[in-house]
This record gives sequence, C-alpha cells and structure tokens, in this order.
Amino acid sequence: GRHNDLLRHTGFHYKGLNFDQDSLHIFAGLCAVDTPKHVEEMMIVLKANGLNCTRMGAYKPRTNPYAFQGHGKQCLPWVFDLAGKYGIKVIAMEVTHESHMAEIDQALKDAGHPCGVIMQIGTRNTQNFELLKAIGKQKNYPALLKRGFGITLNESLNAAEYLASEGNSQVIFCLRGMKSDFGAPHRNMVDFAQVPTVKRLTRMPVCIDPSHSVGSRDIAPDGVLELCHATAQGVLAGANMVLVDFHPKPQAALVDGPQALTLNELDVFLKDMEISRKAY
Ligand code: PEP
Repeated sequence: GRHNDLLRHTGFHYKGLNFDQDSLHIFAGLCAVDTPKHVEEMMIVLKANGLNCTRMGAYKPRTNPYAFQGHGKQCLPWVFDLAGKYGIKVIAMEVTHESHMAEIDQALKDAGHPCGVIMQIGTRNTQNFELLKAIGKQKNYPALLKRGFGITLNESLNAAEYLASEGNSQVIFCLRGMKSDFGAPHRNMVDFAQVPTVKRLTRMPVCIDPSHSVGSRDIAPDGVLELCHATAQGVLAGANMVLVDFHPKPQAALVDGPQALTLNELDVFLKDMEISRKAY
C-alpha cells in the first residue's frame, strides 16, 4: 500500500500523554509568541482550565516579507521557563528549517523544567521533503504535519509517509482547511469531513485546526462562534487533537489576530467541545 509505515503505527506516548486514534488533546495557545506577559497570561488560563498542552509559534512562515517573522530562538528560553512554571507538558511549535530543531533542543537542555515539543510542519512546507526527512530521521520529537492547502489529500498523506519512512513513528496529521474562494468568507474551505478518511487510510491521530480553517472569530446567528461550530464538526468526525488560536488581546496580536479567541472564551470553547466529544 501507499501508506506502508503510516499503517504500521498505532499511536505513541510522549511526555506521559497518549496520542492515538482514540485520544483527544487540546492545544490552545498563541499563533505567534509576542511578549512574556501574553504567554504567561495564556498559560495561567490553560492551567486554570486543567490543560497541559499548548501551541506557541516562534518561527512564523509569513506571506509578506515585511510582516513579523516571529521571535525565533530568542524567545525559547522564557517560553520554556514559563511552560515549566505552569505545568505545560507539550508545546506544538512550528519549525520552518531543520536548524530550528537544534535550537529547540539546546533551549530545552538549558531550561530548568523542560517540556516536550511537537515539531509542527506548516502547510507551506508540507512538501518540503528535505525538512520532512530531517524531522523523520530523529526520534526525540513527534511531528505534526499540516495538510498542504493546495494539494490533494493523497499528496499530503505521502508527505506524512516521508516522516514515517525515515523512522519517526510519532506523526500526527492536521487538517487546516483548503485554499478556495468557495469557502468564503471563511479563510479556507473547512475540510474536517476528512477526519474519518485519514483515520481509515492510516493509523495516525488526526488533528484539526479550526482557527486557520475559519480564519475569523465571527459569531453565527445562534450566538455561537463559527469557529466553535467548525470545531464541533471535526470533533464529531473523530478528531484526536485540536490546535486553536487564543490571544489575551486579539486586536494587538502580531499574527492572525482576527481568528484568535479571547482568554475568557476558552471556557465556552471547551464546554462546546465536550458536548461534541460526548456525541461522538
Ligand atoms: C500555524 O499553525 O501557525 C500556521 C501557520 O498554520 P498553517 O501552516 O496551517 O497555515
């Protein structure tokens, strides 16, 4: 079969957490790390809600070269320190070049209470085969591969197979919407109906990213955020992980502010998800 190695893998354990096709983990956090204050405010709310995973973008792949590119390795020491302080076990963090893995490695070694990191490969790098091979060759960090936003599902699954075929059996596949004006006014065409398809074709846990799919925090006529409705579709379809953007002050966020939920919306987001999970 085309997905030989992906079909052999039946999930994995990382930092005391189990990632497989039955589990469900919520990675709420900042699309882009900006200030220590905002990261700390985020982590305080995560802890208060009993969450021990988050997303934190240090290396940002931007469409516009003049846009904020992320703080890169400079922010890693204090992000990892704060993670230790608030009991964060795992951070999903995008890497856009293999050298970022070494930078993360060093920062974790220097941190007092090192957390785990999942190496996120963004949609713009889904078919960056040399990056895939580099992340596939190491076994210290799991990988989260975003589906390519302009290629077929099968092409994206083949990209995931690159990670697995190089020896990294800790791979999560993430649906994040497809480029298409048909989905407008959503930023992307929501593709969460493919959660069960990916679970049928591979043994990977499947993540959904409602923030990058919907792209805004607009409110539906029933008063619920459209982003919550999209999340419900993914969770009802059997999603195993949710990557979602929050920010203490979305209007001040340096990247993707319009799609970030506010910290006091985390509670309602989680309650809504819980209903979908029970119905699954
Ligand atoms: C992200 O999750 O921060 C991101 C840039 O996502 P994507 O690669 O799906 O656009």
